[in-house]
Amino acid sequence: MTSDGGVGALAARRARDVTLLREAEQLAAPHQPPAHPRPVVLLPANHRALTPVPPAAREAFRRHLRLQLTRAFAEPLEQNAPAPPADADDPEGPAADSADLAVGPMLGAACGTCGGACCTAGGTHAFLKAASLVRVRRELASDGMPAPSAAEIEARYLDALPTAHYQDSCVFHASAGCTLPRTLRSNLCNRYLCGGLTQLTRTTAARGEHAAFVAAVDDGHLLRLALVTPAGAQPITGFAAPAVTPVSATLTAAPTPASPAASPATPPP
Ligand code: SF4
Ligand code: SF4
Repeated sequence: MTSDGGVGALAARRARDVTLLREAEQLAAPHQPPAHPRPVVLLPANHRALTPVPPAAREAFRRHLRLQLTRAFAEPLEQNAPAPPADADDPEGPAADSADLAVGPMLGAACGTCGGACCTAGGTHAFLKAASLVRVRRELASDGMPAPSAAEIEARYLDALPTAHYQDSCVFHASAGCTLPRTLRSNLCNRYLCGGLTQLTRTTAARGEHAAFVAAVDDGHLLRLALVTPAGAQPITGFAAPAVTPVSATLTAAPTPASPAASPATPPP
């Protein structure tokens, strides 16, 4: 049952989103093609500061990875086995199995505008579980190379750790996005769509056009606005946004045709 306080908070949030959407629509209006105005979609926004990855966070990730690798290597590698299912408790987004090849780059551009708000939940585990590492192990072995050992896979992950990341976010969440190559990201990171991305895919699919304005917002402020297409993000500037940490336009949860949804992109376990 939802408390009155919960209902009130939800109503306040909806009212805030209506106001922010209206603001974003007004800012996008001069950039709209008159004949076919593009939809405007709200996304969350990462606005954390960059900070050195703490040694304790590195060590916590190493311990987590080693435990999951032990589980992933508990069985012999079956080269021709079907792809393993996603981790059982991965809350994958509803559009995670989109087959539209134009959608991936557009969603990646949207995630770049957001800056990886969902990656803040990656902590020191990066959503990596044994099922993901079984898949990583199989993919690395299928490149015609000798099957990698657990130590070799561990080294790949540790080598990918950045020097600095967003404070209290995933250990791989750095200024230019996720520092892990897509192959090494968790199944969840490669498939997740947040609510805003889901709305973006549905809205553009319904219109049959892969172009939309996305507005990254946080706590009542519109921080970034961009036109996103399969070619990338074109930032809309010239409005007074609060000072925030700049983020790269190449973000993490950038979905690809091969692994359509992000995860970024990626969501809380
Ligand atoms: S999936 Fe993550 S990075 Fe992408 S827009 Fe949503 S919260 Fe931001
Ligand atoms: S996609 Fe985000 S949560 Fe996943 S490993 Fe990369 S930075 Fe971490």
